[in-house]
Amino acid sequence: YDTSLFLVPSCYKDDLKSLIICEGLIKDRIRKLAREIHESVGDQPLVMLCVLKGSYRFFTALVDELTITRADLTCSTPLTVDFVRAMSYEDTETTGKVQLVGLSNLEEVRGQNILVVDDIIDSGLTLSRIIHTIKELGAAKIWTCLMLSKRVKRRIENQEDFVAFNIPDKFIVGYGLDYNQKFRDLNHICVMSPTGIAKYKSRSS
Ligand code: 5GP
Ligand code: MG
Ligand code: MG
Repeated sequence: YDTSLFLVPSCYKDDLKSLIICEGLIKDRIRKLAREIHESVGDQPLVMLCVLKGSYRFFTALVDELTITRADLTCSTPLTVDFVRAMSYEDTETTGKVQLVGLSNLEEVRGQNILVVDDIIDSGLTLSRIIHTIKELGAAKIWTCLMLSKRVKRRIENQEDFVAFNIPDKFIVGYGLDYNQKFRDLNHICVMSPTGIAKYKSRSS
């Protein structure tokens, strides 16, 4: 879509090429995804693990919907949340090294059923590092939920249990996803323009 059809912060007006998924569609898909997750997980304790920062908006929307679904279906077990920060990107490319911060407390993971919630899967490196780490920490069951899955050849194949949308291999921003920390405050998922990429390119590279 043409971004002028939607509300976009005016500072980003020239930085976006097109809008590929609007907020309303994301919200609708999350509502359905919560049902899909509930059908698989059922009535058992669940830890939802948010992979920061990119998935924070998707995560909170999904927690809200899953909480409603579980309440409607009178679940008798609690849903809890946990957070890990993962970093690997420099500008629009993965560096191939994934840094994980904040996932050191064994007791929070050991014996738990964990739903890993991430914004996007591209090479698969980030998700693979997280799955490996929580397996080592003794997680009982592990599911993964991705807001976006890029249709590309993965460097590492992972289990992708729940995927909201499959998207083409373009660098995208918005709904939590950044380009050098900008655009997380954009409500819709958009493809960047060359102008935007040049404007917010990190000065170190
Ligand atoms: P992977 O490790 O699978 O290559 O990439 C996963 C992480 O890289 C994502 O969690 C996300 O933070 C970042 N990433 C991958 N593709 C994109 C993209 O198109 N846009 C943005 N903003 N981040 C991306
Ligand atoms: Mg991420
Ligand atoms: Mg990022």
